[in-house]
Amino acid sequence: MTAYEAVIGLEVHAELQTASKMFCGCAVVDSTSAAPNTVVCPVCLGMPGVLPVINQRAVELGLRVGLALNCTIPPFNQFARKSYFYPDLPKGYQISQYDYPLAIQGWLEIDLPDGSTKRVRIRRVHLEEDTGKLTHVDGSSLVDLNRAGVPLLEIVSEADIRSAEEAEAYARKLRAILRYLGVNSGDMSKGVLRMEPNISVRPVGSSEFRTRTEIKNLNSIRSLARACAYEIERQIALWESGGQVQQATLGWDEVRQVTVVQRVKESADDYRYFPEPDLPVLEISAEWVEEGRAALPELPDAKRDRFMRDYGLSRYDASVLVAEQAVADYFEAAVKAGGDPKQVANYITGEVFRQMNAEGRDREDIGAIKLTPAALASLVTLVQQGTINHSVARQLLETLYQQGGDPRALVEAQGLAQVSDEAVLGEVVARVLDANPAEVARYLAGEEKLLKFLIGQVMREMRGKADAQVVTRLLTEQLQGRRGD
Ligand SMILES: [Zn+2]
Repeated sequence: MTAYEAVIGLEVHAELQTASKMFCGCAVVDSTSAAPNTVVCPVCLGMPGVLPVINQRAVELGLRVGLALNCTIPPFNQFARKSYFYPDLPKGYQISQYDYPLAIQGWLEIDLPDGSTKRVRIRRVHLEEDTGKLTHVDGSSLVDLNRAGVPLLEIVSEADIRSAEEAEAYARKLRAILRYLGVNSGDMSKGVLRMEPNISVRPVGSSEFRTRTEIKNLNSIRSLARACAYEIERQIALWESGGQVQQATLGWDEVRQVTVVQRVKESADDYRYFPEPDLPVLEISAEWVEEGRAALPELPDAKRDRFMRDYGLSRYDASVLVAEQAVADYFEAAVKAGGDPKQVANYITGEVFRQMNAEGRDREDIGAIKLTPAALASLVTLVQQGTINHSVARQLLETLYQQGGDPRALVEAQGLAQVSDEAVLGEVVARVLDANPAEVARYLAGEEKLLKFLIGQVMREMRGKADAQVVTRLLTEQLQGRRGD
């Protein structure tokens, strides 16, 4: 049987977080914060005779993305009209870029599940304006043009992605970079970041390109991964059964978890691109590029490498922490407050994430939880100094997560400090052995696993606060002592 591989390219549309639209002074507003068609003007409504003006801030943000994706920035770029007719496009054309995009020939490095890395080439990054928004109600379509003219960046990869997992890794990395750069919130549920994979399959080792399909309007990275996986399987099954993949635009049915045909393409779309006559060619000077490069923040890969180098973290832990800038910041704040880096990383990726998941809170919200970085650092230190044991630390973390507060004060107020006093623990151990003669006899007859049971009994007597190491040692000693009884 032939083994197949996927050939996937990803087109990503990212709204740029500017104050005003791409070619007019209208504010960029959230779809939920303004009544429909209230943030519009003659320019973004496409009235005849009006002239667009390029938003310099949008160009700067786009430039930042191009540089972060290791692209070449050509000395000039040019806007072009992309003509098509659709009710959400008031002018009858969209101002985009075609022959001369803002940035070209970059790459993005992704981490693969087997621990290796791979570069996915970026073909181009270009500026354009967003369209309006259609809402379909009872057989009618309502048009809201508040979004028309919002600056949009289109980021197009080469077809270097070979599986649904790689598509997901690419999407996560790109989203993280856009968020680090402060150009896009990454909130896919609000439509500010939209991903469209085009997918074909071919026998492994072949260099052919078979008919591809394109999936539109995926509203989460999870949907992207599932839709790719489903579509790859569907196409393989078609080829294997002697069928043909039909070139088409597909949608993703979230309920049934299947791709569905929206439109069959008989031929390539003809958008009749031509240079936008109302806008000048945009020159990008070498100085502007260098200014942009100098203004780039530390990006996820560089931060991951620094965390490994400076804090001795594993690549995996460092990658998990830097995936969200807010988590990376929280981690560093806790380390600065005196927490041991490895322990802090363990608590964040373990207990803290577990609490946040239980609450349904996104990781990017970590800065808002009641457990402050300083409190976590203090908790970690209390464990390391032996003041409290791990099980008390877990309970305490839960309390701090829910109510906030100072771990040291809580340990004192609630008497949570660990008991390592051998005299105190020795008495409890003796009492437990006396109370469980059958288990003691079985242990002495060779059932060593009963030691765990006995430790558990002592810990219960001590309400979890005993030093487990001391308990284990005392138990073993006293059990040996009873051997001759
Ligand atoms: Zn406007």
